Amino acid sequence: MINPYPGLPEFDYIKPDSLSAASQFLALHTGEARPLMGGTDIFVRMRDRVWKDKYLVDVKSLDGMNAIYFDLSRGLTIGASVNMNRVIGSSEAKVHYPLLAEAANKVASYQLRTRATIVGNICNASPAGDTTGACILLGGVLNVHGEDGKRQEPLSTFFIGPGATALRAGDIVTSIQFPLPAPGLVGKYIKLGRNKSSDLAIIGVTVVGYPDEGAPSGFRIKLALASVAPVPLVVGQVETILAETPITEQTLSEASQAAMDGCNPIDDVRASAKYRKMMVRNLSLNALRKVWETIRQ
Ligand SMILES: Cc1cc2nc3c(=O)[nH]c(=O)nc-3n(C[C@H](O)[C@H](O)[C@H](O)COP(=O)(O)OP(=O)(O)OC[C@H]3O[C@@H](n4cnc5c(N)ncnc54)[C@H](O)[C@@H]3O)c2cc1C
Repeated sequence: MINPYPGLPEFDYIKPDSLSAASQFLALHTGEARPLMGGTDIFVRMRDRVWKDKYLVDVKSLDGMNAIYFDLSRGLTIGASVNMNRVIGSSEAKVHYPLLAEAANKVASYQLRTRATIVGNICNASPAGDTTGACILLGGVLNVHGEDGKRQEPLSTFFIGPGATALRAGDIVTSIQFPLPAPGLVGKYIKLGRNKSSDLAIIGVTVVGYPDEGAPSGFRIKLALASVAPVPLVVGQVETILAETPITEQTLSEASQAAMDGCNPIDDVRASAKYRKMMVRNLSLNALRKVWETIRQ
């Protein structure tokens, strides 16, 4: 449809000098202000008159938000305003969290990724977000600054619906933190899109797996899906099947069928629900096989 109002509407650009001031401003202007990161979701929504914020609150340069660091006790911390290309290029992500770099590298184009952030991808809470599955399965936790000070939000309970999260008025995510990956952890992200760049996922399949002596099969394998439910979906049945029974081609096939049965996609402009479900089964099997072939060695 042709946009009858091309260009951005007017808004005030606010640049507070502390997180406390930013949280207070956001809380005072609930419903008419939001934190600004790369703006790649915000400006499209404002241009299309879907979001009508009076204020964009630039918090990108506050309190370590532009830093990325790793240590062997705390794992990886990515500041909220670190753009995706920096994550992809960072030696820490490449060595210890290659799945994160792989997922970020599937987002749109190089140009877009110089602005887009992982935290923005998560806070936007689109079911189609490419990095959400990796962030959930790698145990990501958000560090949040709110009106009442700091707290943490685990991603396992963060997503409530399309565009809806556990964030409250005045909240600003300052960083996302990942624990050290389990020894031998391998990941895979497969994105099905209508073209190779600049399009949201028709479906996305993220898998992680690692040896686990506590599991009867000797392995722990988890799967998350994008674009097939109102929120990013972790299909617990996949983990159960592959932990409880010896892993064979047959159980991988059963697990991918469970992924298909566990999702409930909709028809939309990108694909029908039926096509999505079938591709969930096919691409889940591909991703599970790839991870299994590596961790079994
Ligand atoms: C052409 C194009 C192609 C795209 N392709 C893809 C794609 O292939 N895959 C994909 O997943 N996405 C895609 N997107 C969507 C978008 O680029 C991503 O969601 C991106 O990661 C958003 O990050 P950002 O920093 O730009 O967020 P912003 O646009 O700045 O913010 C997004 C939302 O999150 C909130 N927010 C951001 N940071 C914080 C914070 N620190 N604390 C609290 N709230 C916060 C904002 O207030 C806003 O509501 C595309 C967008 C465009 C325009």
